[in-house]
Amino acid sequence: MQKDLISIIIPCFNEEEMIPLFYDKMSGIMGATHMVDFELIFVNDGSKDRTLEGLRVLTERDSRVRYLSFSRNFGKEAAMYAGLKYAKGDFVAVMDVDLQDPPELLPAMYRILKNENYDCVGTKRVDRQGEPKIRSFFAKLFYKVINHISDNHIVDGARDYRLMTRRMVDAVLEMTEYNRFSKGIFTWVGFETKYLEYSNVERPAGKTSWSFWGLFKYSIDGIVAFSEAPLDIASVVGFVTFVVALLMAVFFTIRTLIFGNPTSGWTSLVVIVLALGGIQLLSLGILGKYIGKTFLETKRRPLYILKETDEELKRDE
Ligand code: UDP
Ligand code: MG
Repeated sequence: MQKDLISIIIPCFNEEEMIPLFYDKMSGIMGATHMVDFELIFVNDGSKDRTLEGLRVLTERDSRVRYLSFSRNFGKEAAMYAGLKYAKGDFVAVMDVDLQDPPELLPAMYRILKNENYDCVGTKRVDRQGEPKIRSFFAKLFYKVINHISDNHIVDGARDYRLMTRRMVDAVLEMTEYNRFSKGIFTWVGFETKYLEYSNVERPAGKTSWSFWGLFKYSIDGIVAFSEAPLDIASVVGFVTFVVALLMAVFFTIRTLIFGNPTSGWTSLVVIVLALGGIQLLSLGILGKYIGKTFLETKRRPLYILKETDEELKRDE
């Protein structure tokens, strides 16, 4: 019987220190798992350090290693998409190179997909140990908000680290949108997902490429990509303001009829003008965000541009 092939996609951005550490750990696990074949697909996302050199060396040493290299940094989402497209496996995993996604969970994940009725085994962190408190707070808040306003349920603490069957990978690949938010995409395609839990692991080397501001923007993009609620909020706020204005009109008319019209009310006027102006700008901003996303989407630009792959390296030999 032919063995199953598991493809592992590893996005790398400035990870020269982590690649050898990751490879050592992973080859231990691959060596101990006999019932399957593996391919490691590293995606070099426009690193500025010696990541690509590291990948070339590995590729020459180990035929299970392959790589894709982008012409510049396109982001982890694009790197994952490229890897999924390139993967040939019957099962495909996405894993960070920083060992924060424990590779030793992989055999258990494979067994679940083989023996139980799931198409995806995801992972979720049960704690956020070692992470700045403020970051955890906003992360929690983000999951609360998005799950409240979007029909697409996203599990709190779920990682991108997961093993999927071929049919799920093909479904994910059919989502060719430019504004990618994988956490949403993985749940949007459906299929049964089982979550394994583990406690947070800190990076052994290198550093995270996410700033707080970067994460904030990413979460807004996630909301815009999977919910239209902000647009509804703008309409509801507009409607409520209108009703308040009507009530005020009645109130002031009656007051003037009863008490006459002493010229006052400058303060209330300014407050009303500013409040309305603010609400209008906010609504325009929300609208603009969606239009901006639509604009990017309609250009149909490629998600990434390849500069080099292992195939060229192998052909040159
Ligand atoms: N990564 C990437 N492109 C980027 C940023 C990150 O391919 O623009 C990769 C990075 O090399 C790592 C993974 O995505 O393998 C997760 O990144 P990181 O550890 O910085 O994120 P965190 O674990 O802090 O969420
Ligand atoms: Mg990390």
